Amino acid sequence: MSSSSMIPVANTGAPYSETTRFQVYTHRHLDKIKPLQKLTPEQRFEMEVVSNVLPFRVNDYVINELIDWNNIPDDPVFQLTFPQRGMLDPKDFDRMAELLKSGADRKQVNALAKEIQAGLNPHPAGQQEMNVPMLNGRPLEGMQHKYRETVLFFPSQGQVCHSYCTFCFRWAQFVGDKDLRFASNEADLLHAYLAEHKEVSDLLLTGGDPMVMKTRHLVNYLEPLLKPELEHVQTIRIGTKSLTFWPQRFVTDDDADELLALFEKLVKGGKHLAFMAHFNHWQEMETPIVREAIRRIRATGAIIRCQAPLVQHINDDPKVWERMWRTQVKLGMVPYYMFVERDTGAKRYFEVPLAKTYEIYRQAIQHVSGLARTARGPSMSAGPGKVEIQGITEFNGEKAFILRFIQGRNADWVQRPFFAKYDPEATWFDDLVPAFGQEKFFFSDEYEAMSQERGADVIY
Ligand SMILES: *Cc1c(COP(=O)(O)O)cnc(C)c1O
Repeated sequence: MSSSSMIPVANTGAPYSETTRFQVYTHRHLDKIKPLQKLTPEQRFEMEVVSNVLPFRVNDYVINELIDWNNIPDDPVFQLTFPQRGMLDPKDFDRMAELLKSGADRKQVNALAKEIQAGLNPHPAGQQEMNVPMLNGRPLEGMQHKYRETVLFFPSQGQVCHSYCTFCFRWAQFVGDKDLRFASNEADLLHAYLAEHKEVSDLLLTGGDPMVMKTRHLVNYLEPLLKPELEHVQTIRIGTKSLTFWPQRFVTDDDADELLALFEKLVKGGKHLAFMAHFNHWQEMETPIVREAIRRIRATGAIIRCQAPLVQHINDDPKVWERMWRTQVKLGMVPYYMFVERDTGAKRYFEVPLAKTYEIYRQAIQHVSGLARTARGPSMSAGPGKVEIQGITEFNGEKAFILRFIQGRNADWVQRPFFAKYDPEATWFDDLVPAFGQEKFFFSDEYEAMSQERGADVIY
């Protein structure tokens, strides 16, 4: 992060970054990460224990240019990427620690890791069972079609990230269990499905991180969307953390210029290209190379929208969100969503009560101008849909959360307000019950019926 660490990059003369070669570290390479040697052997062993259960992957750019190693362990990017003891239940932690100390082999360690992972709700909100679309009677494995106008696509070459976030709700697909993975290498099937579904206006490319893919793969998936039979697909969204973890992708990588040319071609061809950037903290947006990457992407006509969950230890502070949203607007980006962290993985370490999350949102949004108030939330991606906490109210002496659907499994639910009993400890949608003497939420029966149809899976 210090300016002395920046060296000029030949083709532009601008001081970008000392890191140009992508060097990655996983749980097998913890001892190769130089700054970690500052920590005690005990702290390093704790990391080893946790990283045998939860995914860990970090690269030199994150280590050398994003983390302030004089602020360990509190540094937000350190918390974002490095395993911490509190991420595991103490009992699970002790079991794994003892097993490792006993000199157990890989097989035994993996077996215990699997057992612990299974107890961490690896597939929240029915992701796997309920949203798989069909083509000619066959399920399309690398896709989800949950909301009428938007299809999610998980390209098979994009199922990793340049680094892993410690709180990631997709953690299960990174720990090697093939059953838990969405994957597809079928660009043709994607285009065939879209051609049959004229109600789909948005394609959302996600992962992992689609930006780990070589440009030629992205061309395969995206360029055919310019064909007349896919004109109804107006918006292409790319969900990515690459601006944080590897902005070199857009500046100095071998195929960076071809990537930007693809973006430009899609925009010129009439598509709305929305680059959905995941930023958790303003500290991710301070290096010269990320600023150059943002500038180059925007120059193609793509729009950068920003989203992130609110999590303890990283951004549970209105000041952090305020500065993050201001920075985004200053750099020409659009704040889009604040998410509630999902009920999976290391949630015990990251979860924040809904009441507190809402209060952080409210305080942050009060202190920014209208251009940053485009951030919606806090939003929970739950089974029935995306539910936003709109406020906390009191009526006839009863306190309640005011909620609404931003997205609903039935589009007719969208935008209808409903109420849940105020509960200062609730951290997720499933903890909520109806307020004001009602037995059920207005959508409960219908959602229940939809959940029974598992296997059929087709809603549209
Ligand atoms: C959030 C989300 C979308 C997109 O919703 P928008 O409100 O259009 O941003 C689509 N599919 C799934 C499964 C989602 O969670």
